[in-house]
Formats: sequence, structure tokens, C-alpha cells
Amino acid sequence: MQTANPLPNTAFETMQTVAIEVTNEHRVQALRRAYPLPVTIGRGGTCDIQLDPDNRAISRVHVEIVEENGRTVLYNRASNANATRVEGRGLQPGERVEMHTGYSISIFGYTLKLIEPAHIGIAFADRITLTVTKEFHLVPGSAVLAYEAPGGLVVEPAANLSELNTEALGGSLTMLFYFDGEQPTLAILANPAHTEVLLDRGMIHQQALYLRPLDTIEFGTTRIEVLSVGQPGIVCDNPGCRVVNAADGSVICRLCGSPLSVGGPTLRQRRI
Ligand SMILES: [Zn+2]
Repeated sequence: MQTANPLPNTAFETMQTVAIEVTNEHRVQALRRAYPLPVTIGRGGTCDIQLDPDNRAISRVHVEIVEENGRTVLYNRASNANATRVEGRGLQPGERVEMHTGYSISIFGYTLKLIEPAHIGIAFADRITLTVTKEFHLVPGSAVLAYEAPGGLVVEPAANLSELNTEALGGSLTMLFYFDGEQPTLAILANPAHTEVLLDRGMIHQQALYLRPLDTIEFGTTRIEVLSVGQPGIVCDNPGCRVVNAADGSVICRLCGSPLSVGGPTLRQRRI
């Protein structure tokens, strides 16, 4: 019986997320992202989704989306009636609305739509400590950009792929993870220093490849793991490996061959 770490899961198993597409009247291209609940939306800088900070009609925290007994629920925090609309209906201050995929929230020129949740998660970890530093859920239509900068790897959602200027990124190793609803894909947009990018199922020679759950990509000091959201997994006990294995009855690690603690905890909490 494993007792060393009472947290049996990573965030990927436990975290209830909501996928939201944000558009506003000035911006044609939508931003699509998954957010762990609770999510705050408003003009305040601490909101998970910050709307126009200069529009005083929008409250600092305008709405909050929370998890209640497995349901996704919106609380209207705006102090004026009809400052928030859900499915076209104006809400009263403090009103509570249960939310479902496809529902739209309108707030002063912004439309926030709940979209289909993600099935693929991308976890960025330090290759030495194997601590997960960033996680993204690839929802349909979303993209994540990762590039090397003087301070380390920068990982950020990419809103408008057609406006991506990779030359402006300083000519460093630049990767794009995207999901068009068909296949999650990794594209290497630039690699001027010819950094070796390793994929556990073979070297990456091509500029773009389809990703599969449990792919592990390594370069420099970074490890990137591709995970199935909501699927249990077993983290390898070997402190130098720690990759996620499928909970499919395997007894040895797919990468290093160490025995797996079958029957013990599945994915362990590795978030910072
Ligand atoms: Zn291993």
C-alpha cells in the first residue's frame, strides 16, 4: 500500500475544467482555451479571463464559473441587472445559472461560449526535477506556442495562427501545439540552432507530426508530456524517469523498464 503521497492523481484526472471560446466585437479571431474551475471573468487584472480593463461597465469580477457537485454553474457578480446575458437572457445580480456546452455568455461586446471539453493535455516539465511547470488542455481550435527565450521556455496560448510572426520570436526553437478537432499536432516552426528534439517513439525529423497520448518530447532542459485528459495513468517510480504509463495492466515502465507500482496510486500530483 502506497502511503508516501496521499494525492492519487494529477490535475489531469481531478481538475474539472471548462473550455471557453472568447470573442469580442473588435476581434474576429476567437481565443479558445480550457480553464480549471473556478474561473473568474471581468475587467480586473486578477481574473482568469480579463475583459477590457478600461470598460467601467464591466465589473472587476463580473461572473464566476464554479463546479458544484459535478455541475458547471455560473454566478453573476455584476451589480446591475442585464449586465450579463446567458443564452440571450439578462441576469439579475447574484443570479445562479447551470451551464452546458454550447451556452453563450454576453458581457458588453464580448461573447464567451462554452465549447466541447479537451481530451488532450500537454504538460511542460523540467527535465531534471521532473516538476510540471505548465499544463494546457488542447480544446478543438486551440493552439499553444512554446519558444525558447533568455529566461527559459515561454509557453503561451496562441490566439491567431495566421498572424504568427515566428521571425519576431528571436529565431529561437519555436514549437506550436494545435488541435484542429481531428488530430493533435506538433509543428516545429523554427529550430535555427538545430536543437535535438527527442520523441520517445523515435527522433523527430519532420517539421510537423501528429501527437498521441503518452508521447514524451524532450529537448534542452524541457520535457513535454502528452496526456489523455481524464484517463488514469501510472507514473514511473524511477526518479530519473517518471514518465506517465497507461493504466492498462502493464507492470514495467514503457520507457525505462522499471517495475510499476500497479495497484498503488495512479498519476501523482506533480504540479507546482
Ligand atoms: Zn520509467
